[in-house]
Amino acid sequence: MTATSGLTITPHMPTGILHIDLEAIAANWRALDALSSYDCETAATVKADAYGLGVTQVAPRLFAEGCRAFFVATADEGLELRRALGPEPRIYAYYGHMTGDTATLARADVVPLICSLEQLMRHLEALPRHPFGLQLDTGMNRLGLKMEEWAAVAELALRAEPVLVTTHLASSDVPDAAQNTDQLARFHEMTDGISVPRSLAATGGILLGGEYHFDMTRPGIGLFGGLPFAKADPVVALDLPVISCFDIAAGEAVGYSATWTARAPSRIATVGGGYADGLLRSLSQGMEVMVGPVPCNVVGRVSMDLLTVDISHLDRDPESVRVLDAHRGVDTLAASAGTIGYEVLTSMGRRYKRQYRGGQ
Ligand SMILES: *Cc1c(COP(=O)(O)O)cnc(C)c1O
Repeated sequence: MTATSGLTITPHMPTGILHIDLEAIAANWRALDALSSYDCETAATVKADAYGLGVTQVAPRLFAEGCRAFFVATADEGLELRRALGPEPRIYAYYGHMTGDTATLARADVVPLICSLEQLMRHLEALPRHPFGLQLDTGMNRLGLKMEEWAAVAELALRAEPVLVTTHLASSDVPDAAQNTDQLARFHEMTDGISVPRSLAATGGILLGGEYHFDMTRPGIGLFGGLPFAKADPVVALDLPVISCFDIAAGEAVGYSATWTARAPSRIATVGGGYADGLLRSLSQGMEVMVGPVPCNVVGRVSMDLLTVDISHLDRDPESVRVLDAHRGVDTLAASAGTIGYEVLTSMGRRYKRQYRGGQ
């Protein structure tokens, strides 16, 4: 390891290195947990491989911090998580009980969050004594039983003793959206008086305040340092290797479709990382990377495996560039790409070497 301008560089790094701070994830979970009262359980949503950060590393760290309930999307994700966590924690699947899921749900002890009448019937027939939860649709129109459906089957469903009733907010990232209070009112209307624990809030809902917390919260993005949890500790940093540096003359163009032309003689660094690694092609305009404390512009198009960077102002060629850091997180990158932090995180490629700080 050599240190340059305060930046630690690993020589001969063959691919990008995604640094993932498990201690920061644990701290973010504690901070989100502290926002709800002591009798409200704080779970963790770790679907899509913990938002691309590696569920087999992230979930055990959260378990060590005290988290005892985890949410994934599919039954197969539940099975992988069960193997990583052992028998104790409860694992819920947002896709519910799909055709073909029965054996996996049973074997991995995963609780399906039933989201349609069809799933309810399937579950009660296929796994009558296996715990299940329910998703209610309070206005997002994505997953869950609608008001009339719930009215029709609530009695039957409640007799089978669901372990959790949930809904999901569509606009929780906009605190004063009328849809938040609408959905809250509808959730009350659909569930007040039942004796089943209730969960409504993901990251955004936690930040809306106590009336949104019910018995359990289930944050995802906030654990991983993304908005809307603006106070989150930064979790990821990304370093990409420099493959080649060279000079070009004024008037020469760089990259596919020659979208950038040098106004003066320039020095270019070609960097290992592209849209196949989650550096979205729409970043081609206006993205910056850091060499130590010095920002450098990405010039020309992002290609599948490569970026080109203008390093004319540096006094020597860098060995690597930093794409994400504490000041330029996934949301900064997302803003340059016209998307959200969630998409940037979950698009981070498999090609990177993941390096973890902290953990078990
Ligand atoms: C993804 C998801 C969550 C977690 O949401 P964040 O915004 O990442 O905190 C919670 N509930 C449901 C139903 C989800 O799909």
